[in-house]
Amino acid sequence: MNVIGIDAGATWIKAGLFSPELEIIKTVKTASGAGRGIKEYIDSIAAAVEKLGVSKVEAAGLALPATLTADGREVKYAGNIKGLTVGSRPVPVSHFVPGLLNPANVAVENDANCAALAEWQKRRGEGRPEIRLLHLTWGTGIGTGLVVDGKIQYGWEGGHLPVSWENPVPGACGCGSRVDLEARIAVPKLVSLARSKIEGLGDAKEAFKNILDQAEAGNLAAGEVIEEALLWMARGLLAMSIVAYPDLVAIGGAAMSRDWLLADLRRKAADEASGYLADALKPQTIWRANLGNEAGMMGAAILALEKS
Ligand SMILES: [Zn+2]
Repeated sequence: MNVIGIDAGATWIKAGLFSPELEIIKTVKTASGAGRGIKEYIDSIAAAVEKLGVSKVEAAGLALPATLTADGREVKYAGNIKGLTVGSRPVPVSHFVPGLLNPANVAVENDANCAALAEWQKRRGEGRPEIRLLHLTWGTGIGTGLVVDGKIQYGWEGGHLPVSWENPVPGACGCGSRVDLEARIAVPKLVSLARSKIEGLGDAKEAFKNILDQAEAGNLAAGEVIEEALLWMARGLLAMSIVAYPDLVAIGGAAMSRDWLLADLRRKAADEASGYLADALKPQTIWRANLGNEAGMMGAAILALEKS
């Protein structure tokens, strides 16, 4: 059986061919047209599928950078796809499926949810239904997903959780908030904050890595930016955990790309917790996610198999 998973992001379209046991057979990557418009975006998805060279696709899953309706049939918001005005009038998910696939056979889901599901089933969660997994991807945005009893929970936009109404940041998050977690500590926000204090950080691709390098080398300004980011993340995780009570928290993405960041985040989570609900987030249950860039397409492939 040919199973494909597509992670159609704002910057890259990643597609993978999987065995029914979810072993990766082949992966491809192509530039996303999301910044140029909906037609270009769907054309890029089609190009990625064609590059896989599969003659007959039997099951397909598509991860979108979009918020879906609760029944999963329509897209409510997709701020990163240019020209797609949704909100008052949702768009059917079939609209995003390129012509070379049969929409009836394609499972469509939010990308952060796909990543959470893959991490639960194939990595940190070990596919054990008793493990409630809260998963975050901390990079350009902060994608969040919660898996309970092996199922993705609807909603769970933890990246857009307002963490403090004090001192709104100058630039709003994609959702419009100036006080949520993503507005405060998504990687581009940290880079722009660091640029106001440190010179020569390089282009957008290199800047965050340079901040981490400088923090490691003892640069005080770089260290402060990272320390403050980890403090906000610890607070955000505490707030999410009071309602989710996760057994496991897995965080991936550039902002969790080194071991010392995890150690520091755990310390802050322990320091910030208080009261009899402090056990909602046990620092030792926070881990770095294991799946990396493959998480979205693997989660899409898992959903494809469930649907087939
Ligand atoms: Zn937001």
